[in-house]
Amino acid sequence: DFITLDALVRNTAQARPDRIAVIDGERKLRYAEFDALIDRIAAALQRDGVKPTDAISICALSSIEYAATFLGALRVGVAVAPLAPSSTAQDFAAMVKDSSAKILFTDDFAAEAMKDAAIDASVRRVALDGGASGAAFSGWLAAEGAKAAPVSVDPEWVFNIIYSSGTTGTPKGIVHTHSLRWRQYGQLDPLGYGPEAVTLLSTPLYSNTTLVCFNPTLAGGGTLVLMKKFDARGFLDLAQQHRVTHAMLVPVQYRRIMALPEFGSYELSSFVMKFCTSAPFAAELKRDILARWPGGLTEFYGMTEGGGSCALLAHEHPDKLGTVGQPMPDHIIRLIDEDGNFLPQGSIGEIVGRSAVVMTGYLNQPQKTAETFWTDKDGQRWVRTGDVGRFDQDGFLTLMDRKKDMIISGGFNIYPSDIEAIASQHPAVLEVAVVGMPSEDWGETPVAFVVARPGATLDPAELKAWTNAKVGKTQRLSEVVLSEALPRSAIGKVLKRELRDQRLAAGA
Ligand code: ATP
Ligand code: MG
Repeated sequence: DFITLDALVRNTAQARPDRIAVIDGERKLRYAEFDALIDRIAAALQRDGVKPTDAISICALSSIEYAATFLGALRVGVAVAPLAPSSTAQDFAAMVKDSSAKILFTDDFAAEAMKDAAIDASVRRVALDGGASGAAFSGWLAAEGAKAAPVSVDPEWVFNIIYSSGTTGTPKGIVHTHSLRWRQYGQLDPLGYGPEAVTLLSTPLYSNTTLVCFNPTLAGGGTLVLMKKFDARGFLDLAQQHRVTHAMLVPVQYRRIMALPEFGSYELSSFVMKFCTSAPFAAELKRDILARWPGGLTEFYGMTEGGGSCALLAHEHPDKLGTVGQPMPDHIIRLIDEDGNFLPQGSIGEIVGRSAVVMTGYLNQPQKTAETFWTDKDGQRWVRTGDVGRFDQDGFLTLMDRKKDMIISGGFNIYPSDIEAIASQHPAVLEVAVVGMPSEDWGETPVAFVVARPGATLDPAELKAWTNAKVGKTQRLSEVVLSEALPRSAIGKVLKRELRDQRLAAGA
């Protein structure tokens, strides 16, 4: 039966008050203390006139106060719009306005990032870390022992509004209701979450990637370990110290960790399951993790909108590491062509998905919402993912690329991921992104941007020849560009648009 996330936290606070709920640096909060803090926040929101179905916004690094404020809002039926501190001034102002947030919770880090944003003065500001960015949190909180007036939360009320990572454009507010989220955190068993879980969150809390671990950990009565800013050694130190069982990392984080020479000296036998999602995850990296890091490894493919999710249980399917796995239970995934025809197995097409956990829509954007949903001839509604893929004979999905990143060269469709998969096997390559650049002869031509492994010397001409000897004729690179680092979003996705623009601006 439907139950809100904060009510599950309260249940744990009553059943196992001494269990640690959140660890934030040196600070630890037990479930009883965490639940009491949630209540004081919920009461303060009511005191300030924030009503059920209103929204608040949080823009901050991960902290106990962040986690508690999230749940405090849910407790009184208030939706949360978490914002990425890495957003632009223009996007900050747009997102706060779009979400109709009544209060904006920040910390010093986010306040600094937001200082040039034209945020409406009527939005109250509360500083979670008691710093200079607004009313101090400790003063804003309701008195110790305060409790909010009970609110019966309707499952169809908004749980959160996640502004999509904006990899391909301006952020869109993706709306999830309590009932949609409950279907996700209510299904704990397959992922091994439960009262013994200790989950290390090293990706920012505003991201859906993180929330898919945050929600089930708290729902199951487990412990959250928060990491404000990722670094590979810091991650392993925390994992070892707290005997971590679950973690969600993005591919670039796995790569940094596995490249540490001292990786093997860490004691990581407590791990039950590791997750990865959000960007291409190279097969050889998965293989390396399976060989050297205890516990299972699950890759998710999906989008914040919730269409077409797949999972690859890498530890069970070592022969399928080049795929993103099979559709998750209750997810139907098909491929369509340009004209909206379903394609047979083996064909390449746009991925469309149906499930019970699809967003209600983009906030205030009926046009974009309508473009994302697609209705087939039988009247069934699907989410268009904008991603291109192919199913093998066993029902495993291979992801090619985003449609927008596909290169059309001399009339051929080229998938950058095919070339990236080969170039990344060169021993001197740490990271590689292939982008289509304008070409007079071909329309577009593939160019590789590469980062060398620390200590390795990388000769662009040699890498180009090495890669071109292995790829198909139409996939041959016209150029290899050596880079210090690839531009990435806050969640670690390569911003191909930026690579292309930088290169064009440089006159190449
Ligand atoms: P925007 O829609 O604003 O451009 P975004 O698509 O990056 O941002 P998310 O919802 O965070 O926002 O990401 C979903 C996308 O991430 C998918 O459509 C897909 O392109 C990519 N992705 C997700 N999982 C994987 C995966 N396992 N492997 C490769 N790519 C993935
Ligand atoms: Mg997207």
